[in-house]
This record gives sequence, structure tokens and C-alpha cells, in this order.
Amino acid sequence: MTQIAILTKWKFVVEFEDDETKEVSGTIGQADTLEQCEGLIEYDTQFHSSHGRMVVNAEAAEICGNCDGEGMISTGNDGRVICEACSGHLGPISTLRFTR
Ligand SMILES: [Zn+2]
Repeated sequence: MTQIAILTKWKFVVEFEDDETKEVSGTIGQADTLEQCEGLIEYDTQFHSSHGRMVVNAEAAEICGNCDGEGMISTGNDGRVICEACSGHLGPISTLRFTR
């Protein structure tokens, strides 16, 4: 397995269903490491549970920390260059799904 030697960070979404309205909403967040990300998802899950909402889905995505998963870096004067850190990788490098 090839490891990409770039600095990455994690974005996550926690989706929950409101007990009364049955409406599904989500909260998003960001963390520097997977460990931190898991901790925040755990925290969000408990927070929602204690407010009568059921968490239905939680997902995390690892993205390039240099370009936020855009693959491109804005140079400031209307220009965009390919991100050197990830060679222009668009989207998440890996994703994780947390199921209950
Ligand atoms: Zn990048």
C-alpha cells in the first residue's frame, strides 16, 4: 500500500434524525487527526442523543491539508495552480463510515 507523504486533515459529518419531526440534519466539523476526528464524532453523537435525536450516519473524509481536497491552490491574483502536496488530488484521499 502506498502512503501519500502529505499533511492531511479530516472533515466529518454527523447526521441525525429529530425524534419529533423525523427531519434529518447534519453537523459538520474538522479535525487534524483521525483520533481527534473520532473523538469529535463521539462527542457529537452523545450530544445529539442527549437532545432526543438519533444519529443515523457518521462519515469522515481525509483530505489534503494544503488545498482542502480541492487539488488546486489559489495564488491570490486570479490564478490557480495545482497543489504540490498532493499533485492535484481532487476530493478525499480516504473516507470512513461510522455505523451504529
Ligand atoms: Zn493538495
